[in-house]
This record gives sequence, structure tokens and C-alpha cells, in this order.
Amino acid sequence: MTILLDGKKTSVKLLIALAEKIRPLNKKPKLAVIIVGDNPASKIYVDLKQKRAEAVGIESLIIPLSEDTSQEALLEHIDILNEDSSIDAILVQLPLPAHIDTSKVIRRIAPYKDVDGFNPINIGLLASGGIPSAYPCTPCGIIKLLNEYKINIEGKHAVIIGRSNIVGKPLAYMLLEKNATVTLCHSKTQNLSSVTKSADILICATGQPNLINAQMVKPNAVVIDVGVFRGDDGKLYGDVDFTSVSQVAGAITPNPGGVGPMTIASLLENTYRLYNLHKSFTEN
Ligand code: NAD
Repeated sequence: MTILLDGKKTSVKLLIALAEKIRPLNKKPKLAVIIVGDNPASKIYVDLKQKRAEAVGIESLIIPLSEDTSQEALLEHIDILNEDSSIDAILVQLPLPAHIDTSKVIRRIAPYKDVDGFNPINIGLLASGGIPSAYPCTPCGIIKLLNEYKINIEGKHAVIIGRSNIVGKPLAYMLLEKNATVTLCHSKTQNLSSVTKSADILICATGQPNLINAQMVKPNAVVIDVGVFRGDDGKLYGDVDFTSVSQVAGAITPNPGGVGPMTIASLLENTYRLYNLHKSFTEN
């Protein structure tokens, strides 16, 4: 029988445990979120993050900036948050408007407040087998979901489709650390299905609706669908054709209800992690 990797249920479990750790604290962890412009999807994500943060006792400060905010002004906001000792964690909601250099913005966030773990110092630590201040939230959520269902990673062939800095690349490093044999595919990969068919663990993060069908999946493989695509019909689609793939997979994420809630749970766990890091600086 195919196991459903329930990210919603698992995230609730993680968030209840997190709320219990936060409840006795006098000073609560505090997350600052900068959102630039009016991207409707970004607004929905930020509202959701704020709602979940408050539910576990994390304070959140949302800083909405207009679409025409200059890069300099955004960097100044980050500097202020970096200096503000009441703030433990900083998140800049992506994507940013085209006139802003995203990599410059990410580099400006102090590594010890970098809740997404995207700063090159944190990514460099991750890539070199060190311990970053925070692990990128989506890969971290995927690993926690695999752990929750006791899915063995060591020695397995993990195939990731999508080489972004926020999902594919950091996930490749994290799976390597767990002794998987990792293949990272992308839009120029030739004969994709011959690669996917050899995957024990297949993780799809492309945003291409229903890219993966049953013929591309090895029987009993573990399939994780990260993709989110809103069709012209207003419906959300994942990268994986769930109806057909769930017939062959050994375990599969629903989408929605798989990776999305795990990403938010990881964000809030990261905030608590940075809060403790911050506390250790001020106590010493
Ligand atoms: P991206 O959008 O920056 O890049 C897409 C990647 O997919 C690229 O590496 C590209 O080479 C690859 N790709 C595109 N078409 C392909 C094809 N036909 N065959 C093979 N590879 C192909 O990546 P991203 O920011 O990691 O986002 C990927 C998807 O995951 C998006 O749909 C995004 O909305 C979703 N996402 C979901 C969550 C979540 O929490 N659920 C988090 C992050 C991203």
C-alpha cells in the first residue's frame, strides 16, 4: 500500500512541540519579514507565516514596502533589522521586483539572523559539511518529513529535479550529508525519465505541472512533490501527476498538504534556533 507522506499532520506535530518550548519564555522569539510590492502569492505566504508564527508564540514584525522601493532603501531596512537586538530572525520574501538584485539583498542579512539559510556564509557552511545558522526551510522540511516516516536515505539514489538556490542545491547538500547518492537534474537534463526511473527517492521542484507521470517512476520509490503552479483555471498543480504516480510509488506527498506546511514549520523552528543563537551571544 502506498504511504501518504502527510506534511500537514507532521507539521502540526512539530509546531505543537515548538509552542511548548516557547510557552515558558519571557522574551518571545521575534521574526521580521520584509515584503516588497503587491505579489498576491507572496502576500498569501506572508499572512500564513504570520498566522502560524503567532499560533506558536513567535512575535512577527511585517514590513511592507512599495513595489518601487529602491535597492538602497531595502538594504537600509535590512541594516536596521540586523542592528535591532529585539529581532532574532529576518526573512525577505522572494521574489523581489526585477530592479532589485536578490543576491545582494540576501548577502546583506546578517548570517546569524538569516532564517532562510540563503546567505552565502550559511550555504557555504552547508556545502562544506559545516553547520549553518539555519538550514533552508523547504529542504529542511523535506528531510524532516522523510525522518518522520522513517524513510532510509543512506545509500539510496536520490534524484532531485530543479537546481534552484532555495530548493534543489541545498537539498542536494543535505541529502549528501545523509549519505544518499544524489543526482541533480534541470531543464537541460537529457532523457529525464531514464534518470527518474532509477530514483529510490525522487524530489520534484520545477513548477512544471504534472511533469512526472507513472512511467517515469520506479516501483515503490518515494516521491516528493515540491512544485506549485497556478493554472489559468485558478487551480493549483504540482509537478507530479498524483493520481497515476500514487499507483506505483511506495510513498508520496499529497500536494497541497505535503511540502508546503513542512516549509512553514521549518521556518518557525529556524526562528527559534536563531533566537537561541542570539541568546547565547548576549549571555556570553
Ligand atoms: P525555480 O523556479 O527557480 O527553478 C525551476 C527549476 O526547475 C530550474 O532549476 C529548472 O532548470 C528546472 N526545470 C524547469 N523545467 C524543467 C523540466 N521540464 N525538466 C527538468 N527541470 C526543469 O525553482 P524553485 O524556486 O526551487 O521552485 C520550484 C517550484 O517549487 C515552484 O513551483 C515553486 O513555487 C515551488 N516551491 C514550493 C515550495 C513549498 O514550500 N511548497 C517552496 C519553494 C518552491
